[in-house]
Amino acid sequence: MSAVAPGPATGPSRLPVGRARAALARTTEVLAQQGLTEELLQPWERGRLHRIRIPARRDDVLAARLLVRHLTARYVGCSRREVEIRQLCPDCGGTGHGRPFLPAHPETGISLSHADGLVAAVVGPGPLGIDVEQAHRRPPPPAHIARRFPEQDGALRAAAAADDPVAALLRLWVQTEARFKAGGGRLSVETWTDRGAVAAVATTGAAVVRHVGWGAEDCR
Ligand SMILES: [Zn+2]
Repeated sequence: MSAVAPGPATGPSRLPVGRARAALARTTEVLAQQGLTEELLQPWERGRLHRIRIPARRDDVLAARLLVRHLTARYVGCSRREVEIRQLCPDCGGTGHGRPFLPAHPETGISLSHADGLVAAVVGPGPLGIDVEQAHRRPPPPAHIARRFPEQDGALRAAAAADDPVAALLRLWVQTEARFKAGGGRLSVETWTDRGAVAAVATTGAAVVRHVGWGAEDCR
């Protein structure tokens, strides 16, 4: 993805509203940020977190939830503590799992992803989806992708014919997961690599702004 120049500096919210904002970070980076702590999570999220037995995975889940809060607070102009996230499962109608959303901002979409020490999150005009994988990870077999996403048949054949079919297939997998999280339909997908990871964002709108800053431009 090409870098998008931020708008004129006019304060904490100087990035244009209306474009999705995505971030990719290492779990350790997120957890090292001052103020990004487990207390920001809601009780139901903390309960879920504490049921995860593998410490590294627990850290990934925590970091992903903190990163999406960090981005959301900036985007909607509130404190990170004020960001309330709920999840609703499109399959069973249950809460606490499934697609995350902001009850206070129904027009704004959020999505988060984590993979072995990496986390990614996006906020913007909804619906949208994000996915991240370690770049060295082997993608699922093409037959698996074809079964799960039959509409990707043409893209699968193109990936198989690429110079580096393994890398192409992994990109396709990440893009497909991002589309799936966004709910499908007409979406534009942006893919990039950073920190040894490949990430994709699927949105209905314009180009995605990538966030890396933690400091002075942070939310109040
Ligand atoms: Zn469910």
